[in-house]
Amino acid sequence: MEHVIAVSACLLGYHCKYNGGHNLDIVVVEKVKGMKVIPICPETLGGMETPRIPSEIASDGVTVMNQKGEDTTLYFERGKKASLLLLQSEGCTKAILKDGSPSCGTTTISDGTFSKTKIPGEGITCKYLRANGIKIIDVTEEGEL
Ligand code: SF4
Repeated sequence: MEHVIAVSACLLGYHCKYNGGHNLDIVVVEKVKGMKVIPICPETLGGMETPRIPSEIASDGVTVMNQKGEDTTLYFERGKKASLLLLQSEGCTKAILKDGSPSCGTTTISDGTFSKTKIPGEGITCKYLRANGIKIIDVTEEGEL
């Protein structure tokens, strides 16, 4: 069976970060070499523009607000569902996601105060993918994907 993996698009060098930048990670690129890679950016899949006002998950753990105080939860909800559908349509059961993001965060997220303070937690899409059987891969772990 073909090895297929989803990867946060910004880790692959796509300019989909809120500020128009990327998070190119050579370790990730090397790790997925030879596999069929599905780039996903849940925030843009959910309908947000790039660049965009940054959002963070609020203290209730489900509402997402941007730095202007607007509720952006709908975009994040759309993005998580679109991401899962995309993975399922490709028979993909694993993903490498960008930690720290309100969508993709795997072990940490921002605390909702826009003060660059990180707390333990998962992004909206990461949590949803895990709950639906997608294995989230830690690239620092040794061995084959
Ligand atoms: S939503 Fe995920 S893929 Fe998109 S820019 Fe943020 S961390 Fe990267």
